[in-house]
Amino acid sequence: MKRLLSLIVCLAFGISAASATQWPNGAKAAVVLTYDDALASQLDHAVPALDAAGFKATFFLSNVKQADIPRWRAVAAGGHELGNHTMFHPCAAATYPADPRYVSEAYTPASLLREIEQQNVLLSAIDGRPRHGFATPCGQTKAGGIDYLEALRAADLVTYVRGVTVTSEDLRANVAKMDPMHIPARGFPDGVAAAELIRFAEQARAGGGMAVFLFHGVEGDYLQVSDTAHRQLLEWLKARPKEIWVTTLQSALDWAKAHP
Ligand SMILES: [Zn+2]
Repeated sequence: MKRLLSLIVCLAFGISAASATQWPNGAKAAVVLTYDDALASQLDHAVPALDAAGFKATFFLSNVKQADIPRWRAVAAGGHELGNHTMFHPCAAATYPADPRYVSEAYTPASLLREIEQQNVLLSAIDGRPRHGFATPCGQTKAGGIDYLEALRAADLVTYVRGVTVTSEDLRANVAKMDPMHIPARGFPDGVAAAELIRFAEQARAGGGMAVFLFHGVEGDYLQVSDTAHRQLLEWLKARPKEIWVTTLQSALDWAKAHP
């Protein structure tokens, strides 16, 4: 009876593994590194570490500083992905202190979509690409109290929407069958240790899915990961090229769509 039960358990896991996305060169999982808010510490610390490791990552830009335009252009030219994170990063007023004109309660879905469209124009002027993905500010999807995701989908302004929550089911999911308007990602507490970052990648490797990391500051700014912990994660990933495909979010989604 015990053996029968374990056989049933194995079969159940076998079915779930078989339904996972097949990644390039037989990799067990895709790992996507994303960085939000166009922070200087990302240009100073994340980009050099990624380039040294030979990895491409995704940067969601909002509140872009004029002085940083040449550097973001170089980041895009280097093969990294620039994504849309609105122009002014509106979140609910209760999230953190902000100008009352730039809290999400002060928007309508139409005004937020207009802002997303204008940020697309800015991104295209920087990277020369016609289409961009999108990450929700603060992981919130409301403008003036109304969920704007369906309006965004209908407007076809962005190629995908990255959120900020992730479950173990998400990590095992067939990415090709995921709703591109709900791509889960995981943020980490300030000062997160390398071991915790690596554990998240390991979970994806075990499940055959995709792990989307969400970073803010790297050795600076806020919600920081230290340069050391960030580099330790990259070293761990770099040591496993056959098991883990590190790529941009757009590339991972494009691959999954073409190889369901
Ligand atoms: Zn943000």
